[in-house]
Amino acid sequence: MPISSTRVVDAPTPLVAVVGGGPAGLLAAQRLAEAGYQVRVFEQKATVGRKFLVAGHGGFNLTNSEDIGTFASHYGAAAGFFQEALAYFSPQDLRRWAAELGIATFVGTSGRVFPEAQHTPADLLRAWLRRLRELGVGLHVRHRWLGFVGDNGLRFLNEAANEEFVVEPAATVLALGGASWPQTGSDGHWTSLLAAIGVPCQPFAPSNCGAEVGWSAFFKEKVGRAPLKNIALSCDGQTVRGEIMLTDYGLEGTPVYALTPALRAALAAGGPTPPLQLNLKPDLAPDELLRRLARRRPGTSLAAFLASALHLKPPVPTLLRELALPGADLLSQLTALPIPVAGLRPLAEAISSAGGVGFAQVDEHLMLRQRPGTFVAGEMLDWEAPTGGYLLQGCFSTGAWVAQAISGRLRPLT
Ligand SMILES: Cc1cc2nc3c(=O)[nH]c(=O)nc-3n(C[C@H](O)[C@H](O)[C@H](O)COP(=O)(O)OP(=O)(O)OC[C@H]3O[C@@H](n4cnc5c(N)ncnc54)[C@H](O)[C@@H]3O)c2cc1C
Repeated sequence: MPISSTRVVDAPTPLVAVVGGGPAGLLAAQRLAEAGYQVRVFEQKATVGRKFLVAGHGGFNLTNSEDIGTFASHYGAAAGFFQEALAYFSPQDLRRWAAELGIATFVGTSGRVFPEAQHTPADLLRAWLRRLRELGVGLHVRHRWLGFVGDNGLRFLNEAANEEFVVEPAATVLALGGASWPQTGSDGHWTSLLAAIGVPCQPFAPSNCGAEVGWSAFFKEKVGRAPLKNIALSCDGQTVRGEIMLTDYGLEGTPVYALTPALRAALAAGGPTPPLQLNLKPDLAPDELLRRLARRRPGTSLAAFLASALHLKPPVPTLLRELALPGADLLSQLTALPIPVAGLRPLAEAISSAGGVGFAQVDEHLMLRQRPGTFVAGEMLDWEAPTGGYLLQGCFSTGAWVAQAISGRLRPLT
């Protein structure tokens, strides 16, 4: 496709360019516009907020009602930074922000925060875009960022006009997302643009994703897809309670997602030990479990005994037959069934990604050390957190954080 021209866009100063129209970029844009800056958002897709809308498909978990200390502990190595960023833009601030857009929220099970049932994710996005337009934020869709130019410039391709141009903003927010669900625009292609100015990125890896297990053909045929409720799953000393889904390729479900970092490390370390252990009766004290197991009469089938003594119905007997180690007693089969995970599901289908711009590449304001005036927010930073509202909250808090840092660096228009 020929490029028709290169030009510099004149705009009132100080102009802030936000690249990436996901929640991190849009919140940064809103806060900066409210502070009096000229803000333009450049988004490569035909619409903004595509991954945000996808997040709404299976229950739109905006944030969590936990106290900030507990909340921050979910961000692993980045917990220290998030402690501060969450204090600056907290879960309460997020709920207030949604309320100001006319979207009431409620606290559901395990402290998760959702919009009230009458509000769809599209309602929230529509109201948000209305607010951004009222604030004068310029939304430029089908504008793909192609890289840096000189000290301040950003090169874009306006795909509709087939035209390349350069913007020279006073400050830039990069909020380009991670690398899962590339069809939403979060394709991770931007890493080469950062590498070009000497900013290395951590390789992307799937996070909050399913695990692959090499089930036998018999198991796949017999079990297919089946839930296992009230279980506990452990990996390397970490245990998560909840429900998992057996699928023809392996396992899905919140406990598997939450254990992805530990699973990834266990798989990288290799070794003969199956990385996951399943406890099918985590609520039963070991003494009580032993007492019930002792009641088994000779001649009773395993399936009938598990159903009557422990309320463990199919597919549990088939699962035990599939995975139990030779010679393992029933107690250990039921409480620490080894699951030989062969790998993680592909990055493209993961809920989020690990990797991206490392915290060593940015200062405490999330400004690139290599390029003063350019800030980084959202999932493109190298942090990961489980599902439960921690992902979107992390994106919102970092978006607000960089907006504040830019406001401190530039003089507002008003
Ligand atoms: C199935 C699913 C369910 C989820 N459910 C939840 C949930 O319930 N709760 C929760 O907290 N989180 C959830 N998430 C995660 C959440 O959606 C993401 O963490 C969040 O959208 C990331 O926000 P972001 O602004 O950092 O990036 P994104 O939302 O990925 O936005 C980045 C934007 O940058 C644009 N971009 C990239 N490169 C360029 C370029 N070169 N030029 C211009 N634009 C570019 C992309 O097109 C994209 O629009 C879910 C995700 C998925 C996939």
